[in-house]
Amino acid sequence: MRVLYWFRRDLRIRDNKALIKAVSKADKVVAVFVIDPEALRDRKINFDDPRFIFLLDALKNLSSKIRLHVLYDRTREAFEHLLGRYKFDAIYTASPLSWHEDTLIQEVKDICGRSGVRLIEVVDNLLADPSSVGSPINFTMFYRRWRKLVNAKTVGEIPSDNIVEIDETDLNELCRKNGWRIPEKRMWRADWYHHRLQSFNYRKYAVSKDYPYLDGTSKLSPYISLGIVSVREVFNQAVKLSEEFVRQLAWREFYYYLKYRYPHMKNLELNPHRRGIAWENDKYLISVFKEGKTGYPIVDAGIRQLKTEKWMHNRVRLIVANFLVKDLLVDWRIGEEFFKEHLIDYDEVLNIGNWQWSASVGIDPIPIRIFNPTTQAEKYDPSCHYIKRYIPELRDYECEKILNPIKYKISNYYEPIVDHYERIRKFKDIVSRARENSTYH
Ligand SMILES: Cc1cc2nc3c(=O)[nH]c(=O)nc-3n(C[C@H](O)[C@H](O)[C@H](O)COP(=O)(O)OP(=O)(O)OC[C@H]3O[C@@H](n4cnc5c(N)ncnc54)[C@H](O)[C@@H]3O)c2cc1C
Repeated sequence: MRVLYWFRRDLRIRDNKALIKAVSKADKVVAVFVIDPEALRDRKINFDDPRFIFLLDALKNLSSKIRLHVLYDRTREAFEHLLGRYKFDAIYTASPLSWHEDTLIQEVKDICGRSGVRLIEVVDNLLADPSSVGSPINFTMFYRRWRKLVNAKTVGEIPSDNIVEIDETDLNELCRKNGWRIPEKRMWRADWYHHRLQSFNYRKYAVSKDYPYLDGTSKLSPYISLGIVSVREVFNQAVKLSEEFVRQLAWREFYYYLKYRYPHMKNLELNPHRRGIAWENDKYLISVFKEGKTGYPIVDAGIRQLKTEKWMHNRVRLIVANFLVKDLLVDWRIGEEFFKEHLIDYDEVLNIGNWQWSASVGIDPIPIRIFNPTTQAEKYDPSCHYIKRYIPELRDYECEKILNPIKYKISNYYEPIVDHYERIRKFKDIVSRARENSTYH
């Protein structure tokens, strides 16, 4: 029996359930990964983008452990080619997590159907199956149930004796052909997680996680997002040291559960009373926000971190997302798209779920959460270390002035583009109008 193993967001050989299953079922396994130019275009990823280099780096590491073919083509065309040219008995792959992957899998399933090949999906990359948690109505209930269902038993590493080659490109050939290179100096290294997993201070996480100037969160999200590290390994490392960390992993799975239960949440607000809000979507305010020139230093620093590092601290993501939606009255979908175009840990489900939560249009027992950028900055960056790291032109100013941009004018820095209090009144007003117009009374 010869099968094709399709790597997608599970770029590892350790604790990879779908891969182990494929290897145990077949005498010969051909391993492929498809770099799809459509997917790169959709996220505005160029070949010199740190996100592309991170992917290449991850594929290089994987190729050093297993014979891996890498194709650069649209997914459907790559599979039409592979199934047209070679005989396979089945394709194995991990179950899709996002809507984007649902579409890809369906396309490949259609091609398989025409070629008489089975496509076998194996549930992985989750600690509990979203279909088994029942119908919790909020995160707290979900967490309680999910915690009892977590199965973090790892499955070890695959024996690679039956991984075979076919006459297709590998990563080296593709890199040579397309002039892709992995620079020696790079911000995100695909093998860094080994060290981080062991050395991260989980014990301090509950107190350090909200302060963006500290190295207080794991920064494992890009690795979890591409499946470079197994989420079970992360859980096992953290569980004895920090339940708060485990709770964050539960947030990840809560959003997958919401997607499973409410697949329409991709484009539609989960809270029916919050649909049809009359967003202003002012083009000027949106462009100032995207350039990180809002005059609220904590927001601007977050945007700069996002653009330079392709990652942003969670507390700052919350501040920035709240600001765009509630202070600038911009549709959360525009923010979601902006993050998609920059985040190295981009995950369609987590991004949409978190944006909905931040916009107070998702599932949250608190009807409207307001994040005041001034008080948030005072609380979480009290000495302005984070702000000054990303906005060096503010280095010589007193922190008190930086934290209160409405009270103190800073020469040579942008003036606040809106008055927070005035805009929040307006936000509440447009939200209550949407509720009045809602058909769900
Ligand atoms: C508006 C907005 C958009 C977001 N978009 C994404 C996204 O596209 N991809 C993404 O991975 N995370 C997203 N998050 C969640 C969160 O910000 C990141 O997971 C976190 O900052 C990653 O850093 P870390 O690995 O150091 O996290 P840690 O604090 O070390 O947490 C460990 C892991 O728990 C998970 N996690 C933590 N917080 C959350 C959360 N709020 N929701 C879901 N999972 C969580 C992640 O897998 C993370 O790696 C978003 C949050 C907001 C507010």
